[in-house]
Amino acid sequence: GFNCGIVGLPNVGKSTLFNALTRSGIDAENFPFCTIEPNTGIVPMPDPRLDKLAEIVKPEKVVPTTMEFVDIAGLVEGASKGEGLGNQFLANIRETDAIAHVVRCFDDDNVIHVANQVDPTADIETINLELALADLDAVERSIQRLTRVVKGGDKEAIATKAILDRIQPHLAEGQPLRSFGLDEDEQRQLRSFGFLTLKPTMYIANVNEDGFENNPHLDTVRRIAASENAVVVPVCNKLEAEIAELEDEERAMFLDEMGMEEPGLDRVIRAGYGLLGLQTYFTAGVKEVRAWTVKVGATAPQAAGVIHTDFEKGFIRAEVVSYDDFVALGGENGAKEAGKWRLEGKAYVVQDGDVMHFRFNV
Ligand code: GDP
Repeated sequence: GFNCGIVGLPNVGKSTLFNALTRSGIDAENFPFCTIEPNTGIVPMPDPRLDKLAEIVKPEKVVPTTMEFVDIAGLVEGASKGEGLGNQFLANIRETDAIAHVVRCFDDDNVIHVANQVDPTADIETINLELALADLDAVERSIQRLTRVVKGGDKEAIATKAILDRIQPHLAEGQPLRSFGLDEDEQRQLRSFGFLTLKPTMYIANVNEDGFENNPHLDTVRRIAASENAVVVPVCNKLEAEIAELEDEERAMFLDEMGMEEPGLDRVIRAGYGLLGLQTYFTAGVKEVRAWTVKVGATAPQAAGVIHTDFEKGFIRAEVVSYDDFVALGGENGAKEAGKWRLEGKAYVVQDGDVMHFRFNV
């Protein structure tokens, strides 16, 4: 699966967000293959399409796809030098696929701020600086190592070192690599380094209930994010924690009263999904209607491999119908009669919402 690490300064609302995310979650029992650490939560992807499919197919079971969130212990200034839980913190981030950076955008005299004032610019800089310094450390070590290797004339080593030499000053200024403007080729060459500031990142602007509009803190986060091509998700974590506590019926009423179409958490989860370049396809059998996650651009055999590696190895063909056709034509039979039920081969690139059935050799 894919995961997203929640980071941010102390007291910005990370745990509140994490608890809301996991409380709205499904039992770990349903996912026996995932080991769950206390700071890790498996969260179902909200997807109304799944309910629509279930209405048509009437299966015994409906299973959403999921995304993992990891609450990463508070970062303090100096983490890159090993202060606080610094090293542990950085090691935990290195293992995540994407980063959700929570930034405090709410004023509340009862909640102490580590730097004594709500200041998103300074907060973002503090975190970005620690992450950039951790990357800088890795870059400088590698440059040292490669300096010896390039003397042997290794072309790849020379190319890699040339990129590292270029990015070094950017990191030394405390700037994240995502704002350096590396092209795809360069990013591929750096992939094995697992640089923290190159991970897909979104800012979770934690606002008060009434802080979605006319909030200068939120405007600041938006401005900074735009300069780095990062996404911003404004959400009131405290409110979300309250919503997550409610039973389904109460929740629907509460959202209605608040004039909200869905919990803000759903936007957070979907943004994480988008950040990672993920999409959903469905299997729709009478036993189970289920959503599955694949990378955008995945081929049919790769999609089959998400269910089971044998499905990928023995892949013959996929039967495919788009979600829209499946629903409009009332399901499998209708889609077949209308000629919308396609047979696709190995090269087929899966589209978001495809309803798929795989044929394979065992
Ligand atoms: P963490 O240290 O980043 O994990 O922060 P917590 O989630 O523990 O939150 C710190 C404090 O801020 C708690 O008392 C929360 O109730 C409070 N808090 C979190 N989100 C909000 C919010 O949106 N508005 C207000 N007023 N308080 C919040």
